[in-house]
Amino acid sequence: MEIKILRRVLAANEAVAKSNKELFSQHGVLVLNLMSSPGSGKTCIIEQSVEALKNDYRIAVIIGDITSTIDAQRLSGLGVPIIQINTEPFGGECHLEASWVREAALSLNLQDLDLIFIENVGNLVCPAEFDTGADKNVVIVSLPEGEDKPLKYPLMFRISSVLLVNKIDLASVLDVDKKTLHRNALQVNPNLQIFDISAKTGEGFDAWLKWIEAELRKKRQQ
Ligand code: MG
Ligand code: ZN
Repeated sequence: MEIKILRRVLAANEAVAKSNKELFSQHGVLVLNLMSSPGSGKTCIIEQSVEALKNDYRIAVIIGDITSTIDAQRLSGLGVPIIQINTEPFGGECHLEASWVREAALSLNLQDLDLIFIENVGNLVCPAEFDTGADKNVVIVSLPEGEDKPLKYPLMFRISSVLLVNKIDLASVLDVDKKTLHRNALQVNPNLQIFDISAKTGEGFDAWLKWIEAELRKKRQQ
C-alpha cells in the first residue's frame, strides 16, 4: 500500500520534471542540480562558481532547505537572484520536488538567464529519487566522508553526470584514498565525470568551470 502511494507520488513528480525540462529548454537556460550530504560544500561550491562565472553569464540560484534561509543569506552578496525553497510547509521533506522547483523557476525571469544552480536539500537518498527536471545532476562528496558513499548510495551516483570530490585540500590529514573513491564511483556509473576540487583553495575549479561552460555552449546550440 505504502509502496503504491510512493509510486504515484514519484510518477506525478516525473511528469512535472518533464515539463520543467521543456520550460528550461524553451528559455535556453542550463539547470544544474547539486546534491550531497549536509556539509559537503554545496553552498560554497555554488558561491565560488557564481563568483567565477557571473561576469560572463546570467545566473540564478534556487536553494532548498527544510527550514532557515542561512544559505540564501550567505549567497545574497553575490548580486544574482536567489530563491529559497523551505520544505517545512510541505511536511519538511528532505528533498526538492519538481513542482517546487517549477514554482521557484517561474518566479525568475527565465528569458534573462543562462544558468541556474539548484542546491538540493542535503542528503544522498531521496533527492536522487525526485527528478527536478534539471539538465544535469551533480553529486558532491567531500573527502572526509570516505570512499564508500558511491557503494552505499548507488542511485545518487547513477543519476548524476558529474562527481565533485570536494575538500581535497584536507587530503594530507585524512586517511581516505581518493583513487578508491573514484573507482567506487565509476563502478556504479562508468560515465561519471569526476573533478577533484577544493572550494576553499580553488584547486581543480578550472576543469569544473570548463565543464559548465561546455554545457552552456551545448545548450545554446540546441
Ligand atoms: Mg548549503
Ligand atoms: Zn526526502
